[in-house]
Amino acid sequence: MSLLVVGSVAFDTVETHAGRREDVLGGSATFFSTAASFFVPVRLVAVVGDDFPESHITELQSRGVDTAGLQTQPGKTFRWEGRYDDLNEATTLDTQLNVFEHFKPQLPPGFEDSDYVFLANIDPVLQGQVLDQIRNPRLVALDTMNFWIQDVIPGKLEALKAVIARVDLLFVNDKEAQLLSGEDNVVLAAEKIREMGPKTVVIKRGEFGALIFGENGIFAVPAMPLERVVDPTGAGDSFAGGFLGFLAASGRNDADTLRRAAVAGSVTASFVVEDFSLDRLKTLDKGQISERYSAFRDLVRIPE
Ligand code: AMP
Repeated sequence: MSLLVVGSVAFDTVETHAGRREDVLGGSATFFSTAASFFVPVRLVAVVGDDFPESHITELQSRGVDTAGLQTQPGKTFRWEGRYDDLNEATTLDTQLNVFEHFKPQLPPGFEDSDYVFLANIDPVLQGQVLDQIRNPRLVALDTMNFWIQDVIPGKLEALKAVIARVDLLFVNDKEAQLLSGEDNVVLAAEKIREMGPKTVVIKRGEFGALIFGENGIFAVPAMPLERVVDPTGAGDSFAGGFLGFLAASGRNDADTLRRAAVAGSVTASFVVEDFSLDRLKTLDKGQISERYSAFRDLVRIPE
């Protein structure tokens, strides 16, 4: 089954307890498509500036990412700067939309029939414009962040609520769920968000894993306990990449498949945080993903 993503392709400057990296490859769509490419080929829709190296595009293509929907426009690539005082939460120091400010997503021929769609964290107006062009998707998922929920640019919260009403599955972290719903309690927050449209709400809780609230109740997936976390950037997008990549590969959306997909997401994210930027994904292979997936079975096994 085909999987399409729209989101940011970025240069990130990141500071964690392990060090600082300037202008490294990042972006919600970059992490998502690289993570999902371990499961299925991915169609990417985004924009970069003329400062973006061709080698990054070739690298994505070599992983089975179709970049026909990646435009290059005159100007600078999107830039984000963040710091982690606590590994579960990034503090945004700077966001420069740059070429995304005037981006008009236009799906290349053939992309409109995508079965699975991920509206990764980006301007909710752009998320809506991409969704308008998709013909008959089997499942649409969306991720967002406090930048849009807090209406830093006026009007974006309204646009976000409009697009949330049209999706099947929403990914948010616990802080974003609180902001979006006005509820501090995670269960009540998920309930309120489900009333806004999505049948399934995935609440990401950093090193504590994720809770999936759906029609069949609640499923808890842990995060893999790791000895060393270097950089949490991209964990959320890689979680979504593993999750939707798994669903698209199986072509099923039933409750058991959703549970397996959540584990696939958690496994994929657990690798990304082991190094800066996408560095760990460059050396990762499918065998290592399967091995850690099996380790998860043991991690959560409850004897009769
Ligand atoms: P996460 O998976 O939540 O850690 O997402 C990290 C990625 O989100 C970074 O690589 C950033 O480039 C990207 N990002 C941060 N802020 C924004 C924003 N406002 N819009 C789109 N992408 C963003």
